[in-house]
This record gives sequence, C-alpha cells and structure tokens, in this order.
Amino acid sequence: MHTDLVAALDIGGTKIAGGLVDGHGRILLCAQRPTPAQEDGDTVMGAVEDVMAELESSPLWERTGAVGIGSAGPVDASAGTVSPVNVPGWRDYPLVGRVRAVTGGLPVELIGDGVAITAAEHWQGAARGHDNALCMVVSTGVGGGLVLGGRLHPGPTGNAGHIGHISVDLDGDSCPCGARGCVERLASGPNIARRALEGGWLPGPDGDTSAAAVAAAARAGDPVAVASFARAAQALAAGIAATATLVEIDIAVIGGGVGKAGEVLLAPLRKALADYATLSFVRNLEVAPAQMGTDAGLVGAAAAALGQRTGTLAAGV
Ligand SMILES: [Zn+2]
Repeated sequence: MHTDLVAALDIGGTKIAGGLVDGHGRILLCAQRPTPAQEDGDTVMGAVEDVMAELESSPLWERTGAVGIGSAGPVDASAGTVSPVNVPGWRDYPLVGRVRAVTGGLPVELIGDGVAITAAEHWQGAARGHDNALCMVVSTGVGGGLVLGGRLHPGPTGNAGHIGHISVDLDGDSCPCGARGCVERLASGPNIARRALEGGWLPGPDGDTSAAAVAAAARAGDPVAVASFARAAQALAAGIAATATLVEIDIAVIGGGVGKAGEVLLAPLRKALADYATLSFVRNLEVAPAQMGTDAGLVGAAAAALGQRTGTLAAGV
C-alpha cells in the first residue's frame, strides 16, 4: 500500500488535536481531546492515545507512513522529549517514543509549536514562496520559527526562532524565563493589557480587560490603548530587525490572537521597523499577517513529517 498520508498531532495546554493529512496539506480526518493539563503525565498521554486511536480506526490509516508532532515547548527533538510549560506532568517526557509505540513503529518527527506554525505558513500561507522567513505567534506568549534557504530551520532541539525570549530591553522587567526585557514581556497579549490598565485605560461596561478589548479601544482612538500597542509593536520590530540582520529574512509573518488586532498592531510595527531595520539588506523587509487559521499547528506538523521523508520541506512537492 502506498503511504501518501501523514498523521499530525498538535499538542497545546488546552487541547490535543490530531489529523490525517495529505501531500497537499488537506486534513482528511480530525480528532480532538481537551488536554488534562493538571493531571499526571500518563493521564495526559492517555488523551494523546485516544486521539491516535481515533485516527488509527479509520480505513485511511493504512495510507499513513509517518507522524509529525508540533508541541508546546520547550521540546527537545534530539532526545524526543517535551516539557510544555503549561503541562507540569510532562517534564522531559518521552513523547516521541510513546507515540511511535502506539503506531507500531512509524517514524515520528517532533518540532516546537512555533516552528510548526512556521512550517504551515511557508507551505500554505503568508510565507509561501519566501525562502527566508520569520513567522511569529503573538498571543498569551510570543513564539516563532524560521525558514532559511527555502527550508524549515527547527534547530537541533526543535526550538529555533523562539523570538519571544530574545531581550530587546537590557535592563527591562524580568521575564518568567529568567532573563530581562524579553520581547514577550513587552508584546504578549497579557502584557499589552497590563500596560494599558497601568496607564489608566478603563475597560468597557462588559469589564473585558483582554488585549482584544485594548485593540478595540485603540481602533476607537483611545490614546493609552494606542500607546500600549505601539510599545508592543516597537518590541516586535526590534526583535524582527535583529533576526533579519542576523540571517537575512525577507518577510516577517505575524499571527496569533494579538496578530488579529490587524493594523492596530501592524501599522506601528511597520513604522518602528523603519527605525530598527536600517541596513540596506534588511530595509525592504515585508511584514504580513498570518493566513493560516486554527489548523496551522496540524498542517505544520504534517509538513515536518512530510519534509523528513522527502528531505525537503513539503512546499512544492
Ligand atoms: Zn523571556
């Protein structure tokens, strides 16, 4: 039997999604369970096994030749282990070996969730056709990944491109990661909301203090809300400019919940980028919103599995 499909797993702190995906990035079958994030490691693995069992019960399973996993990080692809911050029961958890066991020995490729999103945007989304790209997820946290020389660049452990934890403010606020002034500490949704509230922004009658509510206020012209987004945009721009200067990317793709703010974020981001990305080889850097929706993690995990089999990222296969 020709194995033209791959299984994909997208493992996050709230849900575990699985799918069978073809060589065009189409999801032919989907399964999902909530993540029992506060339970012990084997209980979390039980939810993964339930998802896999649902995929394996399909007649399509015969056509499945590999598994790709995109997981909340940190991950260690070289060891096959994951330690997602929001799943305390998994620390150096041997996810790759456990998944390989339930599939009867299929090859398993593991990448971080930011790298998975990047693989999806490069294969099917906003970074398609770009050989050198940084893709970012700006949400509760800030993550990302890189495409270099036309290929996904996960790095040895599967975490390369984690732009949220590079410092753009040397003596800035301490970050939960242990460093100071990280991009995430300035640009994540919770930090955009916190800064607006500290600046005197008042939520509407519904009491919504999320970054989306701050974005709505900014869109309506509230100066404190505008300033909070401008500060986030400045931090993102400094991180993007540093990345572009190091490895010569030609597009930065912005996704995630905060990315949905659209021009409220992107307009000040493009403006700030002009201040930081000044050398000739980074000056024409394009900034674009992400195009992939909620399936990006699954499609990206599938791309990684397909790329491992063919020796290239699946784009254009
Ligand atoms: Zn940090």
